[in-house]
Amino acid sequence: MPNTPKADTNAPLPAKTAIVIGAGPAGLMAAERLAGAGHNVTIYEAMPSAGRKFLMAGKSGLNITHSEDMETFLSRYGTSRARLEPHLRKFGPAEIRAWCEGLGIETFVGSSGRVFPKVMKASPLLRAWLRRLADLGCNIHYRHKWTGWDASDNAVFSTADGDVTAKADITILALGGGSWKKLGSNGAWMKILIDAGIACNPFKPANCGFDVRWTDHLIEKCAGNPVKAVTLTCEDQTVRGEFVISKTGIEGSAVYTVSAKLHDTWLQTGSATVTLDLTPDRDLADVTARLAKPRGKNSLGNHLRKSLGLDATKIALIFEVTPREVLNDPAKLASAIKSLPIAIARPRPLDEAISTAGGIAWEELDDNFQLIKRPGTYCLGEMIDWEAPTGGYLITGCLGVNIL
Ligand SMILES: Cc1cc2nc3c(=O)[nH]c(=O)nc-3n(C[C@H](O)[C@H](O)[C@H](O)COP(=O)(O)OP(=O)(O)OC[C@H]3O[C@@H](n4cnc5c(N)ncnc54)[C@H](O)[C@@H]3O)c2cc1C
Repeated sequence: MPNTPKADTNAPLPAKTAIVIGAGPAGLMAAERLAGAGHNVTIYEAMPSAGRKFLMAGKSGLNITHSEDMETFLSRYGTSRARLEPHLRKFGPAEIRAWCEGLGIETFVGSSGRVFPKVMKASPLLRAWLRRLADLGCNIHYRHKWTGWDASDNAVFSTADGDVTAKADITILALGGGSWKKLGSNGAWMKILIDAGIACNPFKPANCGFDVRWTDHLIEKCAGNPVKAVTLTCEDQTVRGEFVISKTGIEGSAVYTVSAKLHDTWLQTGSATVTLDLTPDRDLADVTARLAKPRGKNSLGNHLRKSLGLDATKIALIFEVTPREVLNDPAKLASAIKSLPIAIARPRPLDEAISTAGGIAWEELDDNFQLIKRPGTYCLGEMIDWEAPTGGYLITGCLGVNIL
């Protein structure tokens, strides 16, 4: 028998070249993994700096992941769970927290189970991350806008000095969704991919606010106020949480959670209603009994405050949408408080959405997020047609997928 040499399974794989297009969390994490595995990585970014949406996400506290049990956590990805799960089981919430710590950023679990950096902001994390990428030898070219592929299959970038091209063994597209254009995620890539024969689904706002025709009185009294400890119901979906009354309508986490359903209903029927339960911890009989007690000289507002513990914002909402004859009848009023209809005028514009659904259709990608029609090119992050509520699931879904 000839003595055939055995493969050395510990020998490093030959280094490949990789280009990562888009310097948001999905692209930067892909760059880190590729460079960490010894490949030569170059990052291209259209904007003058990296991670602008990531920094914006940190403005009100960077909710980087969530601490709930893994089963519940994975359920948040809905119909996309099956595609993301194998990756998130390997690099999920615990690994993201450890990764932050490795960058010198301690995290903590907030009262709702959401995980934040202790500093709350995203900028120290992003700075440490970019330093690590530089140490790993990643080059970043800013102000390089990817415009597609040329006839020789090179990636083409438009720059102030004219077009430049690049080709590599591995290409990562991590170009983001279709909202907050001014931060770089303008969705212009969709036409390029469709022209290249890649199926994409139109963008839809995924975590968005809605316009409501509030009276001037309510806006003056309540705009900016939170409505806490309520349930919101749209069709068959009920969520407990809080939201904010804005000058134009409603926004905030509980609204974002039902926003996909609310948006679909509005698109299909031209109208939609979200129903509030302002006293989710009291049943209808309890609310009715409390309201039926004589209120003496108390105004109705005072009676609502004293008998049910409602704050001024909830009381203003009741007066805003409830007809007078209902206000004067304790049994009807109790029903209204348990089931307060807020009529939606329209969704806020796509560009204001926290995230967008739509994007590259799942059937275009293999299990490793490689484009089936373009072997060697991978797509990551929000540009794929998956959605999740706010709560750290979006960034986790961008960081967790590992193509290696
Ligand atoms: C106000 C706000 C608050 C948020 N808060 C949270 C939160 O607390 N927790 C959470 O999980 N998520 C949050 N998100 C969502 C989260 O920021 C995004 O889901 C995430 O940034 C998506 O990452 P990404 O890498 O896929 O895309 P992006 O972060 O959008 O990055 C894409 C990058 O690609 C670049 N690019 C686009 N087109 C081109 C091109 N043609 N050529 C070169 N470069 C290009 C863009 O400039 C951008 O830098 C928030 C979003 C917003 C707007």
